[in-house]
Amino acid sequence: MKSKREMPETLIIRPPSEYRSLLVRLTRGCKWNRCRFCGLYPHLGELTFSRRMVADVKHDIDLLRQRNLKSETAFFGDADPLQIGLTEFIEIARYLRSVIPVKRLTSYARASTLWKLKENGIRDLAGAGLDRVHIGLESGDAETLNYHRKGQSPKMVEEATEWLKEAGIEVSFYVLLGLGGRENWQKHIRETARLINKTKPEFVRIRRLWLYKSNSFISGPECPLYADIRAGTFTPQTPEGTVHELRLFIEMLDKYLATLVICDHSNNYVHVSGRIREDKNDMLSAIDDFLRLPEQEREQHYETVGSRI
Ligand code: SF4
Repeated sequence: MKSKREMPETLIIRPPSEYRSLLVRLTRGCKWNRCRFCGLYPHLGELTFSRRMVADVKHDIDLLRQRNLKSETAFFGDADPLQIGLTEFIEIARYLRSVIPVKRLTSYARASTLWKLKENGIRDLAGAGLDRVHIGLESGDAETLNYHRKGQSPKMVEEATEWLKEAGIEVSFYVLLGLGGRENWQKHIRETARLINKTKPEFVRIRRLWLYKSNSFISGPECPLYADIRAGTFTPQTPEGTVHELRLFIEMLDKYLATLVICDHSNNYVHVSGRIREDKNDMLSAIDDFLRLPEQEREQHYETVGSRI
């Protein structure tokens, strides 16, 4: 007879904002796994994608409950947990809510997967108790998204976000500075700001492109984008260019936007956070103060931040 595990499976990654959450693994790795800038799951040791059995996920939830953790929130991973199937996802969400009284249930989700569910599927997710989705928007520029094989279009993001909002599910987008390279950075940023102004998500979390090598401390395969860099088709943004991208992005956001923009990752060169309609000018001033520092001081700062997950 197969013995039951005594520890729940752990996620490969989770958003920093979910550090207090109960972490529940529905799928392993990323089914899509094609984005040029990513390859993160194979790099971190999850070479292939797989779906977990609903009974095993429920068993993990039972284990989390028995450990009597004080978390008031729960989070579903890995990259796109809806790949387990809508019915299965809903069954797991309902089960979790029935045995653990969490105040908030969130999940990673690909925009294209949500888009395929259409309005009814998204409404069903809300009915099962899903409160918020963390979506890798990365860019609002169709050209940049296509180049990086993200598998989503700005139009798809717009429609999926509208259905999420109608269903009452909060949207947390991740925006990736540097994704346009030095060739296309202005368009990447301008189109991303345009899409944020249009979709009005609750959160935008800023990240910087992380180019990891195969000889990093984890030693999985290197970031696929390195092949393009060697071929000369993609030129990485400079550190200072990344700060200018952040400035342009915030400058272009609508001053009435209620969105909370947060640099909640240690790989950001400048950390500014705030609600745009209240804090936009302060955020821009903080970036300008940094850019007025002596060049040597700025360069030293970039060295200390480095590149990391
Ligand atoms: S960015 Fe997301 S969808 Fe793309 S390969 Fe990475 S985990 Fe998968």
